Amino acid sequence: MKACVFTLGCKMNEVESESLMSGLTSLGFEVTDELCQADLYLLNTCAVTAEAERKSRQAVARMRKFNENAPVLVCGCASHLHPQSFLEREGVTVVTGAQKKDKILSLLKEKGFFPETDERMFCEMPPPKRTKTRAFLRIQDGCNRFCSYCIIPYLRGRTRSRSVESILDEAKKCGAKEIVLTGIDISSYQDGEVDLPALLKKLKEVPARIRLGSLEAGVVTEGLLSAMKDAGNVMPHFHLSMQSGSNAVLKKMNRKYTREEFLLRCKQIYEAFPTAAITTDLIVGFPTETEEDFQDTLSAVDEAGFSHVHAFPFSPREGTVAAKMKDLPSAVKKERMARLTAIATAQEEKYLSAQVGRQAIALFEEEGGYTENYVRVYADGAKEGGLYRVRLGQREKDGLRAEILEELV
Ligand code: SF4
Repeated sequence: MKACVFTLGCKMNEVESESLMSGLTSLGFEVTDELCQADLYLLNTCAVTAEAERKSRQAVARMRKFNENAPVLVCGCASHLHPQSFLEREGVTVVTGAQKKDKILSLLKEKGFFPETDERMFCEMPPPKRTKTRAFLRIQDGCNRFCSYCIIPYLRGRTRSRSVESILDEAKKCGAKEIVLTGIDISSYQDGEVDLPALLKKLKEVPARIRLGSLEAGVVTEGLLSAMKDAGNVMPHFHLSMQSGSNAVLKKMNRKYTREEFLLRCKQIYEAFPTAAITTDLIVGFPTETEEDFQDTLSAVDEAGFSHVHAFPFSPREGTVAAKMKDLPSAVKKERMARLTAIATAQEEKYLSAQVGRQAIALFEEEGGYTENYVRVYADGAKEGGLYRVRLGQREKDGLRAEILEELV
């Protein structure tokens, strides 16, 4: 029997789909993540934008083109937000939403029995299928922050953390050379007395590079930075979502920091790790964003010195506070996106140029590798899974050419 697991959306969804694929394999399925002829389809949906939700629904029809007799099991955020819009589609037999993905496996095992889960418990899933190079390790789920534009807390539920023992166990067993700590809001990690800095100290004993997923600015404290320094295996790459550089907009977004506080955190990061990369997410054209607010965002981007900016235009999500605000004309959002993209691209170029001539340690994947500060590099003779000391050279594709100086073990 062949099962197809098709995924839309965020890294957390991808990791959870990989876990589902492992679980399906142990149930005896041949598993693929490509849309193709299969006996069973599992669709992991996304609701981050209206477009992602539309694509999620469309995927059901795409599956049925391959096999209109195969059952389609749907999970993920879009199915949590609008379960009926999936249930009413031909072929869809089960919709579990965003919080009970693991139940798909027990449902398949137990043929139709579908117990309730306690949504405050961290949902353990089989370890995802992974390469020996890089593994994504779920440490947390859910979110309590209720940013006014975001539907995730309503879909994924309140924050809950995986136990330290379970994290250490998977980190040691996975055998990957780099482990990315993943979650919806890993900044809120708390297992008893153990918060994120304390968890990093415990992960010091794992023989792998540790990389952090997306962080909230408030978690960047002396404590976190010194835990990273002390651990020695945590990579100096910080994905800090700024969302806007205007204090007025940040307040309307219900983000709990000011522009000044955010920029101070960036400064502290560079003081602690001079070669650190700081990447960010920005929402362009939030309903209350004036031209002056947007100018504040542009100047904050300039001041923060991001190595990469992921910007996207505001799109209202039904059920959120911001969806009730008057949306800006799409022409305004488009024009601001173009201006922001130009500045962000120039800044990325500047960051990469500053790396040329530096030595770094890069871990290589199938094609190219990443330095400690997440610069993409390409080198002749690099093996997949190999760790090398390299000298960084000129621009190539989305990163830099690198010369191998030494292979490390
Ligand atoms: S921190 Fe804000 S944007 Fe991120 S998941 Fe929570 S509510 Fe959504």
